[in-house]
Amino acid sequence: MTPSRNGSGGDDGDERTERLRRLREETRDAIDRTDLAADGDERGDGHHHPAEVATDADARERQLAVQVKLKEREERLAAAEKAIEEGTYGVCVDCGGEIPEGRLKVVPDAVRCVPCQTEAKRLGRV
Ligand SMILES: [Zn+2]
Repeated sequence: MTPSRNGSGGDDGDERTERLRRLREETRDAIDRTDLAADGDERGDGHHHPAEVATDADARERQLAVQVKLKEREERLAAAEKAIEEGTYGVCVDCGGEIPEGRLKVVPDAVRCVPCQTEAKRLGRV
């Protein structure tokens, strides 16, 4: 039996889910890696030159900032996966217009179309 696929559109959802799932895994891996790196820092608790401490604190702060960003990204990707399930993925949250597939490929967790995103940025909403 050959399952007949009705041309275009039918597989979009799967492909998008797949893409998001992969990205989310990558993001989670990256979070794990920053976690491990943080642990390593704590264990190296030998000598404390003031300069070293400052550098450590700096590095740690940067690492935390990266981690926060990654976690936010993971949340957005999870939300995007949910949106696919609910059939609201690729719809701009501001104008309700369709977000072009090209943009979703580059920014799979995009929730706004380009004009709305630009406007939201201008208004400091994102
Ligand atoms: Zn829009």
